[in-house]
Amino acid sequence: MRYQLTAIESPCPVCGEAQGRLLYQRTAEQAAQHFVLREKEPARHERLVAAIRRLWQGNEVALVECAGCGFVHAEPHVGGDMEFYTLAYDRTHYPRDKWEFTQSVQAITADPRLREIGLENLRVLEVGAGEGNFLRQLIAAGLRPENLAATDFSEYGRQQIASLGVRVFGKDVRELTPADLPGPAHVICLFQVLEHLDDAVGLFARFAELGTAGVVVLAGVPAPRRMAFNETNGSLLDMPPNHIGRWTPRALEKLAERTGWRLDAVAIEPEGAGAKLSQFAKFGYLRAMQDSGSLANRVERMSGGGAQTLARAGLAAAYTARRLPAALKLASDGTLGNVMWMRLSRG
Ligand SMILES: [Zn+2]
Repeated sequence: MRYQLTAIESPCPVCGEAQGRLLYQRTAEQAAQHFVLREKEPARHERLVAAIRRLWQGNEVALVECAGCGFVHAEPHVGGDMEFYTLAYDRTHYPRDKWEFTQSVQAITADPRLREIGLENLRVLEVGAGEGNFLRQLIAAGLRPENLAATDFSEYGRQQIASLGVRVFGKDVRELTPADLPGPAHVICLFQVLEHLDDAVGLFARFAELGTAGVVVLAGVPAPRRMAFNETNGSLLDMPPNHIGRWTPRALEKLAERTGWRLDAVAIEPEGAGAKLSQFAKFGYLRAMQDSGSLANRVERMSGGGAQTLARAGLAAAYTARRLPAALKLASDGTLGNVMWMRLSRG
């Protein structure tokens, strides 16, 4: 897909700049097809279309890149709700380990100011903690479960987190109050969460209320250059209403400026060529199968079995071969890692 890049007036939710560039538009039908194939599960697909229309209060979404800070915002700027996620995803996969976990554990354990407080005294809040895999790493590093707190919408996830001895809430972090926590948080973490949320300004105001005077935020989001690369090279689109904001370092600076935080560090995942190419092949197939005239779409209508598995692998390879120059660029470009990690602080 090529971005349209036409000028559009659409105020940026992060920096307030009125001018933007239109990247692309999608209908509710096209968005639903990204998550659930019409040809495979027609009833569920139709319900998803209706759920997306209800969220958008209309039939179309526009992806707009802010001319000021580069933040890409979905308009309408509305994230998915419980009905959307129930229909769009069968189950959530929680990776045991992620680069941003390791990066954040290091940032906590190596920080001289946090070390002074003592790891056994550190209070950490994790927003959208899944089944607690990052919290487990913190406990292994010497933090005490009773000093940790977390939120997650998944009941299964909350059970897993509670079994670690960590207090956990099934509500939006913006509804938490300081009294909910073991004490003001020294560190607040959120991994693959920020890109789903609207009102980042309100979120960081709440973080300031929930944290100590010098509270630190550590977060991981999809890397903006990689998302643009995917979208313009036949991989999956960064589809709303799942993701509704694509963060850039400049947008993070603007957010910090507006809300009284400081952006201390930004890093891009040093992802290996193998991991990048495996995602490129998989996403190329998943993108192609959304087109009802494609071979991948026909393969998805098969009723499982070895022939389908073989056809999927063969087509993924063929779609990759057709995009070979892009595959080579992705594999060799060290700045195209999948995740952008950041550290912000107050005071
Ligand atoms: Zn902006």
